[in-house]
Amino acid sequence: MAALMTPGTGAPPAPGDFSGEGSQGLPDPSPEPKQLPELIRMKRDGGRLSEADIRGFVAAVVNGSAQGAQIGAMLMAIRLRGMDLEETSVLTQALAQSGQQLEWPEAWRQQLVDKHSTGGVGDKVSLVLAPALAACGCKVPMISGRGLGHTGGTLDKLESIPGFNVIQSPEQMQVLLDQAGCCIVGQSEQLVPADGILYAARDVTATVDSLPLITASILSKKLVEGLSALVVDVKFGGAAVFPNQEQARELAKTLVGVGASLGLRVAAALTAMDKPLGRCVGHALEVEEALLCMDGAGPPDLRDLVTTLDPSPPAGGALLWLSGHAGTQAQGAARVAAALDDGSALGRFERMLAAQGVDPGLARALCSGSPAERRQLLPRAREQEELLAPADGTVELVRALPLALVLHELGAGRSRAGEPLRLGVGAELLVDVGQRLRRGTPWLRVHRDGPALSGPQSRALQEALVLSDRAPFAAPSPFAELVLPPQQ
Ligand code: URA
Repeated sequence: MAALMTPGTGAPPAPGDFSGEGSQGLPDPSPEPKQLPELIRMKRDGGRLSEADIRGFVAAVVNGSAQGAQIGAMLMAIRLRGMDLEETSVLTQALAQSGQQLEWPEAWRQQLVDKHSTGGVGDKVSLVLAPALAACGCKVPMISGRGLGHTGGTLDKLESIPGFNVIQSPEQMQVLLDQAGCCIVGQSEQLVPADGILYAARDVTATVDSLPLITASILSKKLVEGLSALVVDVKFGGAAVFPNQEQARELAKTLVGVGASLGLRVAAALTAMDKPLGRCVGHALEVEEALLCMDGAGPPDLRDLVTTLDPSPPAGGALLWLSGHAGTQAQGAARVAAALDDGSALGRFERMLAAQGVDPGLARALCSGSPAERRQLLPRAREQEELLAPADGTVELVRALPLALVLHELGAGRSRAGEPLRLGVGAELLVDVGQRLRRGTPWLRVHRDGPALSGPQSRALQEALVLSDRAPFAAPSPFAELVLPPQQ
């Protein structure tokens, strides 16, 4: 077994070790641990936190001595004042070391890869890519997240499959990787517990859109996985956490830079998030669409992103350096595409479902059933309501943000930490960007449990449909650019 080192320390961290001994954080001028109100005040007033300050805060979060109000106040102070790269790097390490480091057999060392997203609308790429990479011979120990703000969470989507259990011990994860080649799990008391607490607090304190908090949250989960390569899908656009590409590029560079400082090879793909990814938004509906993609079908933008983000060996071109394997980028994409087309990704998904608690009969029925049969097996909303195009025109855009906000109101998102979700609530886009529409054509089907859409909700949704006089056109790929790690 290869004991995974904490990058940057050269030594395996003891679980729960918050001392920071031996790590390369900020020098701490004062040996006295500071009280939380003082730490909060320092960050509120624009100061830098030392390594001991950051580790003290994270320790208080995990051992329960920090009150909810103090956690929220510190998150807001960080959101407003920011953190430099060293502070972000120390925060990342402290979150990672709040739980156990994962250990894998030596033979897996070069096979361990993963992907993470900064959060989108209709983004079900992880559900497809993890089993597709497993089908290509990789091991994918994905520690994923729940919905954050208006964006959906991979774990919540998977929980719409009856029986699926996102809480798995490190020992169980190794069994899952043996059986299926991939697993998708949540943080837990053993795995990055500090991120679990801060993540839930950020979701309800308007502190999601913070560059250091996003970076530390994502990379802490990935550090404990002991990867040989990670690709982060950094979204930009109207429904992304950061709307413009420059801000997203800054986040991408921070992720890549902090990753490199901690010994983790990270590439960041910038991808557009103005319209929903694919045609379905909502937990159970997105699982259905992910299954369709693993049938070798489904919307082209989803398939495009799944294949482009492929970091599997032999990945090529830009990702060659990352994975350390020969080949071309086109070969890597073709391998993932083949895993979608020949059913091997779907086979891995079925194995993963059964290994993570889904009844094997249900897992088989879901993976081999028709779309209509699958719908019977997953949670369904009580009512459907269709919206009609208000005029003739070409679909220029379907704005994802208003759609996500209305679905959030209908129960697809949380307003309080831990709140249960309505897993059948969602929406199906009935049109594609670039398509010509006639007035009165249904363009959106909303799945809801409650009463009919209110006036403001219907208006918000109708305004999400942007029509033009242009000739029909092919929708562009969401993929924009790739930020690579520094050469070593
Ligand atoms: N995913 C995470 O795990 N954390 C974030 O902050 C955003 C996306």
